[in-house]
Amino acid sequence: MFSIFKPKIESSCSTESEAHNCCTPQPKGKVACPQCGEKAKGVLGKTFEALVTDETKAKFSCFDGFYYCKTSTCKVVYFRNNEILTQDDMNVIVGLKEGAKPATVCYCFEWTKEKIKAELEATGETKALEDIKGKMENPGCSCEILNPSGGCCLGDVGKAIKEIQKAV
Ligand SMILES: [Zn+2]
Repeated sequence: MFSIFKPKIESSCSTESEAHNCCTPQPKGKVACPQCGEKAKGVLGKTFEALVTDETKAKFSCFDGFYYCKTSTCKVVYFRNNEILTQDDMNVIVGLKEGAKPATVCYCFEWTKEKIKAELEATGETKALEDIKGKMENPGCSCEILNPSGGCCLGDVGKAIKEIQKAV
């Protein structure tokens, strides 16, 4: 036995260059969504447990091993092999899916695409990233039980801002 148990932590916040340990590491590896074929990230059992309706949860004995499809045009929210969950199975509106209202991008501090757009239209800039980063320090975030992705929202927020800036 020469192996030393050394967990390799894959931060779910890896899209950002600054290192911060706001989130519980997500399961490693990606799996293709059975519907759209895009690679999906795994979510923790506790993410699933917090965000899926009681009715749907009653169908499963184990909440581990689900993946989150973030493709906006794909109806799949979570999947595990051939088990597929959609918006109807969720306690929250999945903001990144097409037609979502509100289009929430940050679940911890309630930033929506609507709010970002309103700010950009009014002032030409948005404080979304600044606000979120500040609040991540204090009081801290709970992405793993609030965000359907189970991870940090900063990447999604940045993308949303760019998208909206193009459209404004
Ligand atoms: Zn999909």
